[in-house]
This record gives sequence, C-alpha cells and structure tokens, in this order.
Amino acid sequence: MNVHSCIFCRIIARSAPAFLLCEDEHSLAFMDINPVAPGHALIVSKTHAETIFDLPIPDLQAVSATVKKVAQAVNSALLPDGISVVQSNGRGAAQSVLHFHMHVVPRTMDDGLLLNWSLRPGELSAIEAMAERIRAYL
Ligand code: AMP
Repeated sequence: MNVHSCIFCRIIARSAPAFLLCEDEHSLAFMDINPVAPGHALIVSKTHAETIFDLPIPDLQAVSATVKKVAQAVNSALLPDGISVVQSNGRGAAQSVLHFHMHVVPRTMDDGLLLNWSLRPGELSAIEAMAERIRAYL
C-alpha cells in the first residue's frame, strides 16, 4: 500500500477530494463520504499504518487529541443525543479502509445504529453543509 493506492493517503496528500475539518502534524480530520448519520467524521493518522497494531504511539496520541477536538465541535454544532467514537481493525471488525482511522458518529436515541453498518453514499451538498457547521467550532 502506498500514497497512490490508499485513498486516505491520497486525501492527506490533497490528491483526492474531501471535506476537510482540521489537521495537526500527525492527524487529519474530514467528513465520511458515506455518512451513517449527518455529521459523521473521520480522523486519520498521517502515517500510513493499517491498524492500531501498526501505528506508533505518538501518532495514536495525535489522532486521539484530534478526535476529542472534532467530537467537541460536532457536539457544539449539531447537539446530538450522544456521540460514538468507533475504530475497527481487520476484516472481522468490518474495516473497509486499511489505513488507521477513528469515526466520530453523532447519535440519536432512536437511530437503531448497529456497530457494523453498510456503506451508503451520502448527498455531497449535505455532507459539505455539515462540514461547515462543524468547522465553525474548530
Ligand atoms: P471502516 O469501515 O471502519 O474502515 O471505515 C472506513 C470509512 O471510510 C467508511 O465509513 C467510508 O465511508 C469512508 N470512506 C471511504 N472512502 C472515503 C473517501 N474518499 N472520503 C471520505 N470517506 C471515505
């Protein structure tokens, strides 16, 4: 896997599009393109590592700090009933992109969300509008 074949590496390199939220030296946050709920965001490590087993601790710490920052912004922007932070490793956990990432998922009391959801493309204008609302708190 390299910068040309990994979609998250391409987003980090700005050679693939994304609705970006924020970044620091070791992590980048952007909107999920198949949102399981409005405001679904991803935080990725800038280092290419497939899973938590491969990711150096400083990179994990940077991603975690950005997760907290984005979760706070999502909470302020959208006032959800709750927020789930989800991170999957390996096929058995339904990991679909083999580049370490954490999901920030706004929840509602009755969303019936299962842990292994199926991917459904989102409406780009709706995802972009959510990115704008969240960025206002970053
Ligand atoms: P996982 O199934 O935990 O590996 O999550 C991977 C996530 O990446 C899924 O929720 C996808 O919708 C999301 N995803 C895949 N490609 C892109 C992309 N180009 N831009 C934004 N999100 C993406």
